[in-house]
Amino acid sequence: MAMVDTEPTYINSDNVMTILEAEGVEFLLSSEGQVPLSSCNGKTICLFFSANWCRPCRTFIPLLVELYHTLRNSGVSLEIIFISFDRDEDAFQQHFKNMPWLTIPFDVNLHRRLIDRYQVNRIPSFIPFSSKGITVEEDWTSCIEDYGAEAYPFTNKRREELKAIDKRKREEASLEELLGHEGRNFLISMDDKKEPISGLVGKTVGLYFCAHWSPPCRSFTVQLTEVYNNLKTAKDHSFEIVLISTDRNIQEFNINRSSMPWLAIPFEDRTKHDLCRIFDVKGIPALVLIGPDGKVISMNGKFMVCTYGSEAFPFTESRLRDIEAALRKEGEALPQEVEDVKHEHMLKLDMAKAYVCDSCKKQGRFWAFSCDLCDYDLHPTCVEKKGEQR
Ligand SMILES: [Zn+2]
Ligand SMILES: [Zn+2]
Repeated sequence: MAMVDTEPTYINSDNVMTILEAEGVEFLLSSEGQVPLSSCNGKTICLFFSANWCRPCRTFIPLLVELYHTLRNSGVSLEIIFISFDRDEDAFQQHFKNMPWLTIPFDVNLHRRLIDRYQVNRIPSFIPFSSKGITVEEDWTSCIEDYGAEAYPFTNKRREELKAIDKRKREEASLEELLGHEGRNFLISMDDKKEPISGLVGKTVGLYFCAHWSPPCRSFTVQLTEVYNNLKTAKDHSFEIVLISTDRNIQEFNINRSSMPWLAIPFEDRTKHDLCRIFDVKGIPALVLIGPDGKVISMNGKFMVCTYGSEAFPFTESRLRDIEAALRKEGEALPQEVEDVKHEHMLKLDMAKAYVCDSCKKQGRFWAFSCDLCDYDLHPTCVEKKGEQR
């Protein structure tokens, strides 16, 4: 997501319609039939390069249709012209059926020239031209995926504004503002009750980005549930988790949620999409932790939960430093190696993220006495030193 920090180059398109005319285009097509080129005069024109065989194109079109209707209904004088990457007229017709805007009549050679002129090297590609007839030489697809109609008027200034809004939300928005949306001021509980977002104020809150189709998510959910249940009983309900689902459909969302004792943002709500963007979530599972003061404590809650479990609560830097200092101290008090009556080789002090003790068969983490020669580990407390009575 790195921004290119140089001045954009501008394509002189003064104007798109003149160029189309010079290319021999006599009229445009709508779903109703022919439309004169002059119908685009005075409008913001956007070229949309797409193909029916391209899955990302087909996924993008519903977003663009929504944007098109939203902007036009709010009085923006916008027109989109579809330019096909399809290989034949049938595919082109099939593709155009999904579009409420205009296109130029199918002509592979003309399409090729326009693609070269606008240096389109990937699809979908959405190139807006301002009323001044110039545009930033870049594709707006990803910005539209991120922000929908908010991306209008497709200028760098607008893009920077949107990023600034996200930054402010990340740094200082209240939970109500982050998790609510257009009058929805509640989350849903496991048993589908509406829980007011205001009930989370003053708690440590984990935003859990997860989807049922992902095996790493399913396994992390098990760990997180254990931590959550521990904290619920031990620490007086000052911790809460909110599921930000990236499930593909409501059925998967419901299956995902059925294993979780915490709250969720309703499935049909674009806040989930906004939160992924605001917190720049690149992969799942991800756990963003927000402190009782509403400020982000950690973007990497998954690491804390996996490494230290419920001990990590309240997940602050200082808590982590304390845990690490205590571990160091514990290690310093242990010998570097021991001879145990149960094992024939020397055992060395070792730090392990997780192991199973070969004496008591229980899980262990951090300090262990391990054999270099065979796969043998002991809890420091399970060691029986040779020559010592226990
Ligand atoms: Zn043990
Ligand atoms: Zn051994």
